[in-house]
Amino acid sequence: MWYNKQVMSTIIKKYSKNVYIITTILVCVFLVITLSACSGNAVEPDPSPSVEPPTPSPTPSTPTPTPTPVELVPWNGPVEHIFFHEIIAWPELTFRGGTRQPGFDAEFVTANEFRLILQSLYDNDFVLIDLNDVWSEYTNETNQLRMTRNTLMIPEGKKPLVISFDDMNFYAIDIPYGLMSTYIIGTDGQIWAEGYDPSGNYITSQDLAAITILDKFVRENPGFSHNGAKGCIALTGFEGILGYSTQNDPNNTTQSFRLNRMQEIARVKPVVDRLKATGWYFASHSYGHIGIANASLARVQADGERWLDEVGSIVGDTKIFIYPFGQRLDGADQNAPGPALRFYAEELGFRLFASVGREPYTQIKESIPAVIMDRMLVGGRTLRNSRDRYLRFFDAADVFEIDVRPTDYGTDWGDSSYNDD
Ligand SMILES: [Zn+2]
Repeated sequence: MWYNKQVMSTIIKKYSKNVYIITTILVCVFLVITLSACSGNAVEPDPSPSVEPPTPSPTPSTPTPTPTPVELVPWNGPVEHIFFHEIIAWPELTFRGGTRQPGFDAEFVTANEFRLILQSLYDNDFVLIDLNDVWSEYTNETNQLRMTRNTLMIPEGKKPLVISFDDMNFYAIDIPYGLMSTYIIGTDGQIWAEGYDPSGNYITSQDLAAITILDKFVRENPGFSHNGAKGCIALTGFEGILGYSTQNDPNNTTQSFRLNRMQEIARVKPVVDRLKATGWYFASHSYGHIGIANASLARVQADGERWLDEVGSIVGDTKIFIYPFGQRLDGADQNAPGPALRFYAEELGFRLFASVGREPYTQIKESIPAVIMDRMLVGGRTLRNSRDRYLRFFDAADVFEIDVRPTDYGTDWGDSSYNDD
């Protein structure tokens, strides 16, 4: 077997408290199995002041030099937006064959690839900004709420970049395939990830999950973040968030279920608060990762309200909606907004709607207060097959972890002995 007793006992321990979960997992297996194609083809008080370097105390005899202020200049060009999923911590567990290997290969990057990509983005003068800072609401002459692009002020010589991360939930079915399992707060007050190594040993690390790797990179390279911005964390709700079982089950009214859920919410709250205090922000990725383009309006409405009830109630207000499977609301939000997009904008208050595309496409809607946009996937599929389109960010040939990736799928770069097609 590819897993061991420790990993299984952990999963069982994590979920056996709530027998209903097993039913939920069975119901969701079909759904989750398809999640690897998420993008389709088409988400305080600082408990640890010691984290920051101590501020030198100036004395009259040795005044502290004033750092040269960074000059900010207006940015009128496109705002690049790339996205990832959670990061593969243990490639030997991910790439061991089987039916899910192609999906993981296509949609995910490894921890080592992620670090190299961040370094390249920084070297190429990209600077992280908050997607919420790009547009604003305003009231037009006919007293209607609409969106407008802000004048972004960016450090001179830098290019603004948004990074979002989809499905940061730690689905139980994914964890045995080489992911960590929960974001926690360490004794130092920082975010850490916990999980189990391939031998089944419990570990905590800041080098094996997306959020902690990016946090660490920004600590070491503060110039990579403008105004402290980090990334957008897109969450579903059907299997909790960030590794915590915060989801409700309307069919389970037992007190033990209710108490356990309250404990999980109480455990994740400080993690959410710490993330928000350190530049992270959240987005809805729908409650059930539903195929939203073809869902009935009633289902879209119920799903959207359930996300607000079970996830929004924990992470707070957000105006960002990230389409599951990259499927646009109403299937064609580039054209006239349909009832689902209108519902999200006018009833639920979402403003920024992100799909998947090949370039930094954005469109401010004229008839509703909404902006639609595309994001570019960073995963094995684009590393293998879209090197040219991503060269302004990084060179796939330099970041691709050729030693751990399957050799079955080839690339559109590299030597012919590696390419299979
Ligand atoms: Zn997704």
